[in-house]
Amino acid sequence: MSDLSADFHRYLCPTSAEPLGLIIERAEGCFLRTPEGRNILDFVSGIAVSNVGHGCPEILRAITAQVERHLHIMVYGEIVQEAQVALAKHLAEIAPGDCSMTFLSNSGAEAIEGALKLCRKATGRARIVAFEGAYHGDTLGALSIAGEPRYQKPFAPLLPDVDLLPFDMLDPLRAIDERVAGVVIEPIQGEAGIRIPSSEFLPALATRCGEVGALLVLDEVQTGIGRTGRWFACEHWDVVPDCVVVAKAVGGGLPLGAFIARPELMRTFAADPPFAHVTTFGGHPVSCAAGLAALRFIHERGLIANAETMGRYLGSAISDLAGVKEVRGLGLLLGVVLEEPSLTQAVLELALERDLLVGGFLYAEGVIRIAPPLVVSRDLCDRAIEILAESLKWARRR
Ligand code: PMP
Repeated sequence: MSDLSADFHRYLCPTSAEPLGLIIERAEGCFLRTPEGRNILDFVSGIAVSNVGHGCPEILRAITAQVERHLHIMVYGEIVQEAQVALAKHLAEIAPGDCSMTFLSNSGAEAIEGALKLCRKATGRARIVAFEGAYHGDTLGALSIAGEPRYQKPFAPLLPDVDLLPFDMLDPLRAIDERVAGVVIEPIQGEAGIRIPSSEFLPALATRCGEVGALLVLDEVQTGIGRTGRWFACEHWDVVPDCVVVAKAVGGGLPLGAFIARPELMRTFAADPPFAHVTTFGGHPVSCAAGLAALRFIHERGLIANAETMGRYLGSAISDLAGVKEVRGLGLLLGVVLEEPSLTQAVLELALERDLLVGGFLYAEGVIRIAPPLVVSRDLCDRAIEILAESLKWARRR
């Protein structure tokens, strides 16, 4: 074992019994380079982060320019920092409906925490509704609204006043009543293995929230910023939330999260008491500069259309492969459901041996995650399809 691998195992907290432990030295476009010179095709994108591809020169230039101006100067929200203002203005242009005022955070879970507090502060109510199969992050508040008890149990007790409803069922939505401050939902469930709701579900949920005055919070941490072939996945159903949460790709590869809501809701944070929700590093100027460059790059290069076209192409080719039961997804957020779920690990390993990185999902055994950078070309999709076909073939023979 190299010194680096040994130190990795010795000094970094493990997150699983057998970490992948792949050493990456450089990354460029859709490729990860190992010290031995292997070029691994990245079809995970750091879990839907690297939408613009690795080492994007436009992003690197924006980072360098901001680094030369200033790094951290003051907590978010008091001093005018151009990078934050420019990013928030751009987010207002692309965010759904009247969501035009942004609070910047460091991560997705933190943005979810902020959105939960917003629901309570703006409505004066306590109860939160979330959905079975949901994943919203690993801080205690975000974990409290997760829809997978196995991950909650070791950390109990969690937040009270949380109700879980079944995802994609209309009748149970009647349980959302005047006591509910907010309803938090991923428009497409990610860690549950890419679950796309029926066409009526999200519109019915939005209507119900409107009837009882509960805020609808869409967690677009994984689905947002072009991943599904729209800026935001909610556009597929014409649903407009009260608040939308983003992270991952919004920082162009640097840590950044945000929740964006109507101004009258966001302004409730400024008083009773003032400074009720603040952050030191949230909205770091370098992350904001990278994020703004990423949003512009996605727009200028037509990456959202590319996500839709390449997603369709990949989805239809992969669903024809032997051993594949179904491909679920929109744009370049795909879940490949295997006929034999027990083969998942073998397929992941065989694909990596052939220099294709694909992943699994936290809650969905038997489903393979496909989420390449949105810059992916047809040639690279063809290469991935070929490797997947081979890997499936050998996994079934093992
Ligand atoms: N919400 C969703 C839908 C996510 O997929 C994730 C991360 N996978 C989060 C929230 C949490 O984001 P972070 O890891 O940045 O805290």
